[in-house]
Amino acid sequence: MECYKIMTSIKNFQELMEKIYIQRDSKRGKENTMLWLMTEVGEFANALIKGNKKDLENEAADVLAWLCSECNLLGIDLEKVAVMKYDRKCPKCKSMPCACNNIP
Ligand SMILES: [Zn+2]
Repeated sequence: MECYKIMTSIKNFQELMEKIYIQRDSKRGKENTMLWLMTEVGEFANALIKGNKKDLENEAADVLAWLCSECNLLGIDLEKVAVMKYDRKCPKCKSMPCACNNIP
């Protein structure tokens, strides 16, 4: 739980992924890292089908880790762009909670 306490932001987590994986991610490249991210999203969906909470948590963590890896390779500050886009409101209807007519 100590680790959880110091990882208080998306930015900190993305920086941690960079420290741990940037060399491996750079060798793999943007396209192959994207493929791994998609694979992890598939594993997350599989865990939902199986209904195992521990697997769901594990795969959710992997999805975030691979998303951060991809953003590191692309030079994207994930926290910055996410907070800017979802600035305390739905980016489409500008409301909180979202008041969009259709649920995609
Ligand atoms: Zn909305």
